[in-house]
Amino acid sequence: MKKFANYIDGKLVPSKSKDYLDNYNPATGEVYSLLPDSCQDDVEEAVAAAKGAFPKWSGLSPEDRSQYLIKIAEAVEQCQPELALAETTDTGKPLWLSNAMDIPRAAANFRFFGHAITQFASESHLVDGVALNYTRRGPLGVVGCISPWNLPLYLFTWKVAPALAAGNTVVAKPSELTPHTAFLLSEICIKAGLPPGVLNIVHGTGGKVGQSIVQHGEVKAVSFTGGTATGRKVALTAAETFKRTSLELGGKNPTIIFEDCDFDLAVESAVRSSFTNQGEICLCGSRIYVEEGIYEQFLSEFVKQVRALKVGDPLDGDVKVGALVSQQHQQKVLQYLELAKQEGGHILCGGGSEVVAGRCERGYFVQPTVIAGLPNSCRTNQEEIFGPVVTVQSFKGADEAVSLGNESSYGLSANIWTSDLKKAHNVSHKLHFGIVWVNTWLLRDLRTPFGGMKNSGLGREGGFESLRFFTEAQNICIKL
Ligand code: NAP
Repeated sequence: MKKFANYIDGKLVPSKSKDYLDNYNPATGEVYSLLPDSCQDDVEEAVAAAKGAFPKWSGLSPEDRSQYLIKIAEAVEQCQPELALAETTDTGKPLWLSNAMDIPRAAANFRFFGHAITQFASESHLVDGVALNYTRRGPLGVVGCISPWNLPLYLFTWKVAPALAAGNTVVAKPSELTPHTAFLLSEICIKAGLPPGVLNIVHGTGGKVGQSIVQHGEVKAVSFTGGTATGRKVALTAAETFKRTSLELGGKNPTIIFEDCDFDLAVESAVRSSFTNQGEICLCGSRIYVEEGIYEQFLSEFVKQVRALKVGDPLDGDVKVGALVSQQHQQKVLQYLELAKQEGGHILCGGGSEVVAGRCERGYFVQPTVIAGLPNSCRTNQEEIFGPVVTVQSFKGADEAVSLGNESSYGLSANIWTSDLKKAHNVSHKLHFGIVWVNTWLLRDLRTPFGGMKNSGLGREGGFESLRFFTEAQNICIKL
């Protein structure tokens, strides 16, 4: 069975613990590889390697660092078939989706930040005739990057690429559930000639590896993406060493559909925003609000299209909904379906697990589920389920839509459908969400600030925001 290795100081090495964790293919329910069950000593070694590599890496010109990142981007593109298959095997997501979204975006992250660092300028403040202030932005040193399982390489590289571009050296941890593409990335970095110690990847559990990175005194900042409860723990631990943190956390995102929308487009997009990646994208809309005049028409067309989604083997090109990432996560989602029933929800389609015949008969599948008839305040509508489950409610007028949408402890993203531009602006400005999409969904521009309000996170990533996070501003004042 294939054994993954840590990537420390330019070499692929086992954990000092010598222990391994099972890695499952969630579509078949089988263990298909092993990952190092790393310990604090591995993190110590990775931090020491990163610290040793920092002076030389941070001393390179932005153009020289850029060349490394672009070389890695090209190598990711060349390895796309292998990477996409690895991502699908680890996560259960359809292979076409790994090919269309995850791997191209991972390459784009390296290419984008490879270019962005060459355009990153700082400010100067002139006090006429008195003094000139200028801001110098230097790298922080060793930084930590911790990512979740839902978009493994996509989110891993979203952190690692800007951190490296800005001149930091990195100790990174992918989710223990999805280590495969991060392991392949370490092989790519070795082939691309990335200097040893610049990027270190330590596999294992959050409790051991993640915690050791966050509490390490030499790690100057942590960029974390994951659940809100873990994010809280990361923030508390990081506070002990006054570490800078960027926290990209959970969501419970509203999709608001007004009567004056382009109906066909809104329905089709609502299906996509609810069920892409099995609903396991932090930006998926899990609460749909439809204006009362088109509520019945929407429900009937939406449910018809959801019923037509094929659930099954992620390697089948016609499959739209693959397996959930783990048995534990499948059970969590199924428990929420039971809760929704107890709370009085009407299951309009789906409502349980799906058995897929053949090689996937022991996989962790859940039917795409649509629930109506629930009050906004119930747990099903307030807690993040992170699966192929969506609720639908009606509303009357923009004020009620805003109030229902905002009635949440989360504030990651919202989606509005209307052909009235004035309403689109007004409603967007009143919604307490870090990202609002109008008449589109998941249209990403890597230059824009990305992040959540309320319990969905702290700080913004994306474009120069990421480069600012990964650098320290120093003001230099010169008397004229
Ligand atoms: P998670 O359980 O919070 O884990 C995220 C990462 O943190 C994993 O690598 C995990 O390791 C690690 N970790 C766990 N405990 C830790 C600790 N004490 N210290 C440091 N690291 C620790 O989240 P998940 O279940 O993987 O991902 C799903 C969540 O991520 C959802 O809530 C989703 O909304 C959120 N998400 C947010 C965004 C965004 O941009 N806002 C994007 C994607 C996903 P292990 O895997 O070993 O536990």
